[in-house]
Amino acid sequence: MNERKTAVVVGAGFGGLALAIRLQASGMQTTLLEKRDKPGGRAYVYEDQGFVFDAGPTVITDPSCIEELFDLAGKRIEDYVEMLPVAPFYRLCWEDGSHFDYLNDQEALDRQIHARNPADVEGYKRFLAYSKAVFEEGYIKLGAVPFLSFRDMIQAGPQLARLQAWRSVYGMVSRFIQDEHLRQAFSFHSLLVGGNPFATSSIYTLIHALERRWGVWFPRGGTGALVKALVKLFEDIGGHIELNAPVARIETQGERASGVRLEDGRLFAADAVASNADVVHTYAKLLGHDARGVAEAQALRKKRFSNSLFVLYFGLDHHHSQLQHHTVCFGPRYRELIKDIFNGETLAEDFSLYLHAPCVTDPSLAPPGCGSHYVLAPVPHLGNAPIDWEVEGPLYRDRIFEYLEKRYMPGLRSQLVTSRIFTPLDFRDQLNAHHGSAFSLEPILTQSAWFRPHNRDSALANLYLVGAGTHPGAGVPGVIGSAKATAGLMLGEVAA
Ligand SMILES: Cc1cc2nc3c(=O)[nH]c(=O)nc-3n(C[C@H](O)[C@H](O)[C@H](O)COP(=O)(O)OP(=O)(O)OC[C@H]3O[C@@H](n4cnc5c(N)ncnc54)[C@H](O)[C@@H]3O)c2cc1C
Repeated sequence: MNERKTAVVVGAGFGGLALAIRLQASGMQTTLLEKRDKPGGRAYVYEDQGFVFDAGPTVITDPSCIEELFDLAGKRIEDYVEMLPVAPFYRLCWEDGSHFDYLNDQEALDRQIHARNPADVEGYKRFLAYSKAVFEEGYIKLGAVPFLSFRDMIQAGPQLARLQAWRSVYGMVSRFIQDEHLRQAFSFHSLLVGGNPFATSSIYTLIHALERRWGVWFPRGGTGALVKALVKLFEDIGGHIELNAPVARIETQGERASGVRLEDGRLFAADAVASNADVVHTYAKLLGHDARGVAEAQALRKKRFSNSLFVLYFGLDHHHSQLQHHTVCFGPRYRELIKDIFNGETLAEDFSLYLHAPCVTDPSLAPPGCGSHYVLAPVPHLGNAPIDWEVEGPLYRDRIFEYLEKRYMPGLRSQLVTSRIFTPLDFRDQLNAHHGSAFSLEPILTQSAWFRPHNRDSALANLYLVGAGTHPGAGVPGVIGSAKATAGLMLGEVAA
């Protein structure tokens, strides 16, 4: 009888977890190694005085890609985690006091669009049709296809050209919609995956169709409950996960990876290795002893990286019932602020914020009558703006609290029970993210699909990548799609 093939996955983010489940469910004995004390990566969880704070992703779209992992393992998602629908998907607010509830109800959308600019009702219809076409092409057909050869890119070329993928998200939205606030409402989505709406390919308008098709969801107990469910699923089918297990290097023998060595010296030999860690970290640090690692790290450092984020978690002894679950608080500037975030060398005076109030959907995330929250501001990464966040962080926190209290959450500072911040320095030091980027390589057309780091290394035959730095890119559905692409390769090449 053939011996079971083995795999090691470095990093337990959503991408690493999804890959490990796919491999284990398909018969490869898989070990998942995570440097931190909890799994989830960007989806880490903080708990303090009865408040539960999801550290990262909170807008869960395309639940079907998650369900597929349970199906593959012969289990039922409902036995592991309950997914709750969120409505509206987001409330978008502007400083003039107006707001737009973005939801899956055509009539309500048309009514709100009409109130702003009647001509945009028709324009929105055409935008939605475009977004659906991109979704079919970019997500359904190509989302989980590994672009290993340039031929794959050429094959996708005609469709990309037909969909005018060279245009930016904002540029494309503006072809359909005239009102500036509505243009913002339908173009900000690429920011959720680290894409500048003025530079990222219009392919990313697919997020709109994706949300309209499957809705926006939130797991009961928070995103952390979904992470726990995936870890349990992995263990239930025989997978092995080690936390507090930082990998120091990927071992190689000739043109193959032979396993990984932890910082404590332990060696995990494997038939295949996959890294869910940051791509620059993977090549520069984990493979820094090998010519391949040095060369690829050098090439990657020349790429453009997504912005970073400043995240402020806070618990209040008050529940703000006027809030929706997800609120986008647009600041006074849009185009100019985004330019500062992606290309600026300093921190802008103003900000646009995303405010998370999960107790609207699940009050159990805070003590009775209280509220858990986080608010995030996109900020430049450390390579563009080497800000001393040790100094700036607390000042920025105070400015954001003051702004929220004035405009959205009266009395906030007197209701404060606990707070903590996560800055670009933490993205760099805790998650090993290059320049402290929150989303890895910027998803511009010249860094997408074949142009993105491939799901399999081009020199080491059994070394694979999974997660935001590889195809298709960041976001929970993106990295789960990358796991599908990577698992397909590994199962075909190593397990076969
Ligand atoms: C604040 C925030 C909010 C977001 N909101 C959303 C949202 O609402 N919806 C959405 O879809 N997406 C959202 N995103 C994006 C999404 O969270 C990420 O793109 C996705 O979770 C990244 O997953 P990943 O698999 O690439 O791995 P990561 O989450 O980056 O995990 C990689 C793991 O590798 C580990 N690691 C690194 N180096 C080593 C090493 N040497 N040894 C062992 N382990 C190592 C890290 O500790 C980490 O756990 C958000 C991101 C952030 C930061």
